[in-house]
Amino acid sequence: MTRLAWGVATDTGRVRQANEDSLLAIDGLFAVADGMGGHNAGEVASHLAIETVRDEFTAAGTDVLVEAVQTANRVLVARSSADAELTGMGTTMCAMALVDADGRDAIAVVNVGDSRLYLLSDGDLTQITEDHSLVATLERQGRISSAEAAVHPQRNILTRALGIDTSVMVDSWEILPVVGDRYVLCSDGLFNEVEDGRLAATLRRLADPGEAASELVRLANEAGGRDNITCVVVDVVDGANGSDDALASGTPAARVTATRTGGDADLFAAAPVDAPVSDEPVEVEPPPAAKRSRRGRRGAHALEGPRRRRLTWRVGLFAVAFLAILGVGLGVIVWAGNNTYYVGVSGDEVVIFRGRPGGVLWIDPELAEASGIRVAEVPAASLDAVRSGVEEPTLADAQRYVDNLRDQIAEATTTTTTSTTSTTTPAPAVVPVPPAEAPPA
Ligand code: MG
Repeated sequence: MTRLAWGVATDTGRVRQANEDSLLAIDGLFAVADGMGGHNAGEVASHLAIETVRDEFTAAGTDVLVEAVQTANRVLVARSSADAELTGMGTTMCAMALVDADGRDAIAVVNVGDSRLYLLSDGDLTQITEDHSLVATLERQGRISSAEAAVHPQRNILTRALGIDTSVMVDSWEILPVVGDRYVLCSDGLFNEVEDGRLAATLRRLADPGEAASELVRLANEAGGRDNITCVVVDVVDGANGSDDALASGTPAARVTATRTGGDADLFAAAPVDAPVSDEPVEVEPPPAAKRSRRGRRGAHALEGPRRRRLTWRVGLFAVAFLAILGVGLGVIVWAGNNTYYVGVSGDEVVIFRGRPGGVLWIDPELAEASGIRVAEVPAASLDAVRSGVEEPTLADAQRYVDNLRDQIAEATTTTTTSTTSTTTPAPAVVPVPPAEAPPA
């Protein structure tokens, strides 16, 4: 008969206003849920999921645990569609339970989302679950490194969660319990702050599971505590499988006797390589007025949670598309505002401006070139147009317009001069004919 000992810790962290993580630790069943949603929806989601799993689970087998998680998903979807304030709520769910597998004890593990289960065995730490997050997918596909994933700005985007859709794929494992093994269930607020080496060292150093859980939460807070932190440490303290058991003495991977995981196929198969699309949530900063709901730092059913608000992928993509269109629109406006010319008036002179008459948004026209033409010289037929601004696509076109104006002015001046000349030219003098002299007599 396998016997387990455990300790738990959870904390709001140092940034979030409330703790939306929930945890469960009863004999034989342990879970961590990390809720998401506006107002208090994340807290409701994680709490409701944990309660449902607890109520639905029996130790009959791994399938029962998987079905309990499926039921929790349906309960969340029904609740969020019935209550407008809870629309869009969701939660991760990572759970382990002692079950019967063909007459033998087994540890059943289920996972949806980016909370994790680790196994510390012979001092080595192994992550059992796979994260259902965008960065984890990109990392598994070899498109980013683990170092890039750790600081990726979109590392809060989940590709699976409970409460989002009526059907959800639940990953499951069945593991042989071995005396001396230590399991750790945690939310991302722990592993995003405490790197694996330190996590392992702490788990090796502190024998008491409660002390280990508390110390891990303390370390996460010390590192920044930017999210809610939840940790459940479970030790296998007694049972049929000692380290002398052939199967038990192998690597942690060798102890996994059954695995059913969807990997990324369910979410990304239909999406182009460079445009992963799914209906999964995006986490953004919590609203400032999140309600605080601390209920004790240690102990079973300590339910906590920072306000996590996640939007759907669809909304995220729409926002990106909208911003792109806005950016292109603004670019066109800026381009148009800077790359067009007009002939107008500055003071009493005709000049060429760069820009549009009156300006475009915040872009005022700039003086590009003076013409030397006085407004008073502009022919009457062109005066109104020049005063309101004659738009030309290029500087050369604007210069041509000004040259044309100059020609008109010159022509008008010549005509005037000619006319003046003709009117002021004195009439030919009448040359008096000298009287003919009388011929000599
Ligand atoms: Mg979290």
